[in-house]
Amino acid sequence: MGPPGAGKGTHADHLAGHLGVPVISTGDIFRAQVADGTELGRTAQRFLDAGEYVPDEVTNAMVRERLAADDAHFGFLLDGYPRTLDQAAVLDEILAAQGRSLDAAVVLQVDPEELVQRLLRRAEIEHRSDDTEEVIRRRFEVYDAQTSPLVSLYGNRGIRHEIDASADIDTVRIHVRQVASLLQPAA
Ligand code: ADP
Repeated sequence: MGPPGAGKGTHADHLAGHLGVPVISTGDIFRAQVADGTELGRTAQRFLDAGEYVPDEVTNAMVRERLAADDAHFGFLLDGYPRTLDQAAVLDEILAAQGRSLDAAVVLQVDPEELVQRLLRRAEIEHRSDDTEEVIRRRFEVYDAQTSPLVSLYGNRGIRHEIDASADIDTVRIHVRQVASLLQPAA
């Protein structure tokens, strides 16, 4: 977890490779669906472009299906999901039905103003439709309102690990790996 631009995608890929589990990135799945012009992509596009969350029922159904796939059987790393309390509740229910639960919630922390600058730099390289200053600011508001409560939720559950993600990528990676070393290997 972490605000837009905190480095979720970068560290999710690395950590998942390290753990030998698939990454399930809702943002990446939505962007792929948009690029493929699917019905889901058409639904998602206007929300992505506005910096708003795709409605919970759409996102939850997509993740439910993805978590049922064989490659997620022995573990998975979620990037960008859950982002709302409703998503967190649905995720609990999906996992409970499979007799499992989350091991850890990793929170990447960075000062918002630094993140706006990072995202504007990324915009020049990647040309993501949601990396304009106005949409970036909206994405932060949405994060604060809808996703920051989840940080407390996982804290109360005792599975939250907060990492200072303002350092360079290699330093943050070391801290992320330290969290991984606390996790039990899948049975
Ligand atoms: P970032 O966190 O940098 O904004 P992501 O790639 O994780 O980038 O997400 C991009 C967009 O995809 C979000 O702004 C939102 O529109 C949509 N999205 C991704 N994950 C979710 C989710 N769990 N629930 C609803 N919308 C989502």
